[in-house]
Amino acid sequence: MKLSSGVATQGNLLLVQVTGAKQGQTISAEWDGHAMPLWRESPDSATLHSLAGVDLEMPAGSYEWKLSWTGADGKPAVCSQSVAVRAGKFPTERLSVENQYVHPDPEQEQRAAEDQKKMRAIYDTVTPEVLWNGKFELPLKGETEGKNFGRRRVLNGEARSPHTGVDFPAATGTPVYAAQAGKVALAENLYFSGNTVVINHGFGIYTLYAHLSEIQVQAGDTVKASQEIGKVGATGRVTGPHLHWGLTVNHAHIDARQIVQQQP
Ligand SMILES: [Zn+2]
Repeated sequence: MKLSSGVATQGNLLLVQVTGAKQGQTISAEWDGHAMPLWRESPDSATLHSLAGVDLEMPAGSYEWKLSWTGADGKPAVCSQSVAVRAGKFPTERLSVENQYVHPDPEQEQRAAEDQKKMRAIYDTVTPEVLWNGKFELPLKGETEGKNFGRRRVLNGEARSPHTGVDFPAATGTPVYAAQAGKVALAENLYFSGNTVVINHGFGIYTLYAHLSEIQVQAGDTVKASQEIGKVGATGRVTGPHLHWGLTVNHAHIDARQIVQQQP
């Protein structure tokens, strides 16, 4: 078993490679006690891959990547490797937004709770299929300066959960492209993230595109890499037009730029 690094910072991705896997052999993986999916490089390959996400809010400390399988002698075998997780350095941002986004009324609050439930159901689904095909790319052409990942936020003077996406400033109407191929898991208006698209890339990997002015795909659609899926906008809880780009890997909130730098 090989890990891309034995040290990681909150919001990072780790690539895991397992070699010497026999045909038909079932190997299970665990990261911090949670089952993680593994995929074969090709049907007859002896190499398996996985992605371990270090959640933005995973406390600093030592964690374990564990593999288990049944050995040739029929006995269970285990192999593990530890990863040191370090705290990220995230600044605090103070913002003024419309009061309805800091103190939603009961009806708005219920909408937000329903959105959250919907998102959880999506992220609970692990499609055992590699739906991507090649390198992941940034979702805006010519935009490379993402910001705000992990920022602790104080809205109208009140502390809120950290910012889980990367914000790219761009003008309303700028085309937004799918970072890679996949299946559209959600394409609708949500309370906080406005017009939102979520793409399922398989094996628990999801990318999210928020605050769009326009959505050009529908839930259930198959999208190609770099296909236009919508336009930059300022819908939902925003201070101005920008693209909020998120990456979730088996429930862990990751700095989306990591998947461009570390190809799974
Ligand atoms: Zn954002």
